[in-house]
Amino acid sequence: MKCNLDGEFSKGELQRFGNLEVSPSAGVLNYGQGLFEGMKAYRKQDGKTILLFRPEENANRMRFGADRMCMPAPTVEQFIEAVKATVLANKRWIPPPGKGSLYIRPLLMGTGAVLGLAPAPEYTFLVYVSPVGNYFKEGVAPINLIVESEFHRATPGGTGGVKTIGNYAAVLKAQSIAKAKGYSDVLYLDCVYKRFLEEVSSCNIFIVKDNVISTPEIKGTILPGITRKSIIDVARTQGFQVEERNVTVDELLEADEVFCTGTAVVVSPVGSITYKGKRVSYGEGSFGPVSEKVYTVLTSLQMGLSEDNMNWTVNLS
Ligand code: PMP
Repeated sequence: MKCNLDGEFSKGELQRFGNLEVSPSAGVLNYGQGLFEGMKAYRKQDGKTILLFRPEENANRMRFGADRMCMPAPTVEQFIEAVKATVLANKRWIPPPGKGSLYIRPLLMGTGAVLGLAPAPEYTFLVYVSPVGNYFKEGVAPINLIVESEFHRATPGGTGGVKTIGNYAAVLKAQSIAKAKGYSDVLYLDCVYKRFLEEVSSCNIFIVKDNVISTPEIKGTILPGITRKSIIDVARTQGFQVEERNVTVDELLEADEVFCTGTAVVVSPVGSITYKGKRVSYGEGSFGPVSEKVYTVLTSLQMGLSEDNMNWTVNLS
């Protein structure tokens, strides 16, 4: 689907996956005008019904991000229709129940040519998909994170709160250094005080202490994760106290359980944190009781194994 800067997106069409043709001076290539979303479709036990999870949340997050990046965005209806059409056209690639999911990547970018620094004159919105299994090589086994003291992912007033492509370019260096040392990923701190937790390269972070769940509040420097928001609701309906606030690195090191949330990682238990050369371990090589509870409730709902009393799933067949 294409659109001018002040226009509306035209009706889209299905196309075979392939390369795009864009101008070398496209806004996305030169000035980083790109935004994406990450979603998953699961096949239900009946083998036929396909479930999407809260697609209007992704549509709205893209619209919010588009405003920050000076881009026009598809309407919520256009976004969801494009996602549904792409998923249904690729239904045969959706793994059987329990064997994975179809990862969905909606992408919005400035494809119009622009030489001086300015928003591009034309935009493209597209959706592509790929079957996926687990995100971390550990599967749902605990991951090992290193707290990053040198690199930052986002600054106050920057673009950390939206899902723009440049945020991911910013983490590649820290992430590759961490992976080369054997860590699963990097946990970032705020760049002002360097003591408050922000998030991991592609997921949000939670700690549990004495059965109280805490997660960094949304202040524009971390992505407002849809899994994060859903886990907060799930945890509260399960009777847990959940706090969205500044969480210090000291609290992290003292926590009973630590876990990450995201569309790709779902809920991943954290087995160890390394900070300034000191390694702290959590649990016995598996989920802690609180993270296991919220993981089970959320994934049962996403995969259609339990009644969707939150009204979060959308059925396609
Ligand atoms: N933070 C970052 C930086 C991410 O890339 C993601 C993945 N989209 C998340 C958090 C989690 O967001 P969500 O739960 O919506 O996938």
